[in-house]
Amino acid sequence: MPDAREAVDRLIAEVGVTAAGQRLGVAALLYTYRCTIACRHCCFGCAGERSPVRMTLEQSVYHLRQLHELGRVIHIAGGEAMLFWDDLLAAVQAAFADGVQPHFIESNASFATDDALVRERYAALQANGVVGMLLSADPYHQAFVPPERFLRARRLAREMFGPQNVWTTNASDDTIVDFAAIARDEARLRDHVRAHPPVLVGTAHRELRPFLDPVPLGQLPPGRAWRVPHNDPGCLVEFARETIWELHIDPYDNIQTNCGVILGNARETRLLDLLERGPENANFISKLLADEGPLGLADSARREHGFDIPDRAVTKCDLCYSTRTLLRPHYPHILGPAEVYGK
Ligand code: SF4
Ligand code: SF4
Repeated sequence: MPDAREAVDRLIAEVGVTAAGQRLGVAALLYTYRCTIACRHCCFGCAGERSPVRMTLEQSVYHLRQLHELGRVIHIAGGEAMLFWDDLLAAVQAAFADGVQPHFIESNASFATDDALVRERYAALQANGVVGMLLSADPYHQAFVPPERFLRARRLAREMFGPQNVWTTNASDDTIVDFAAIARDEARLRDHVRAHPPVLVGTAHRELRPFLDPVPLGQLPPGRAWRVPHNDPGCLVEFARETIWELHIDPYDNIQTNCGVILGNARETRLLDLLERGPENANFISKLLADEGPLGLADSARREHGFDIPDRAVTKCDLCYSTRTLLRPHYPHILGPAEVYGK
């Protein structure tokens, strides 16, 4: 087993999936953009009506192999990969045979309709070397996923994988039930959005921007990084090797960030090489965003493509995504895929 993978496995055995992931960062197969639900905060624009395109078995194993070179905790995310359970399991089995199975699977728990089914799926994953689960819950997810499904998925995951290997909220059962109530109440949801402003990319930009107040560009609040708080005008922390929170490879072989900026093609660029060169150097848009942030990108778009810079925006990410939406037809290989930028 290569050294990078061995060290990650050792740390997971010692501290669990959650603590290891928080320490080392994560990287994932973005297995599909199709989802069982359509959360209003989804930065990838995932939804039920998205194309059913998903990774082939060959793609999954090929990309898991290079993800494991990164010394990060590896998972399969989506969309909702459980939607394609038979294909997902076949991919995990093939990866296990090759020694490159993911450490955990991410799910919105919509599959958790009864205990027997959940136990059966968890046991199948465990039998193929998967050691944990990530389960999502908040007012956006519980707008669609009944709280009892999440609670079942969490209870059984803790029982079968051990609590240290279940990356999820520790919120009480009552709080999870209340998430569904918040989702139904626009006033409470508005308070929630304003207290925890999401990254306004993809569906989040379309659905949640109206809950926030536009301010002059000179007064935009500091950036909300995924991993490291920062006040820089630039977004280097979102791209730099040491601080980038997550790296994904999607079913189109795109190396995808959490911002909807593609860093390369994972068939042409080895992910480890890209990380070593500095992800911010992948292309001129990632470089511009890292150095000068969305104001720099907007100014470049004005000069090169006549972008009419708005006077006001609600967050840095709002300005960034508006600018990128205008730029996408010019640079579709960097600003894509259509799922992230489409309606
Ligand atoms: S946030 Fe996750 S569960 Fe929600 S729509 Fe996006 S991919 Fe699906
Ligand atoms: S401003 Fe753009 S690059 Fe920076 S965090 Fe927001 S979406 Fe990402």
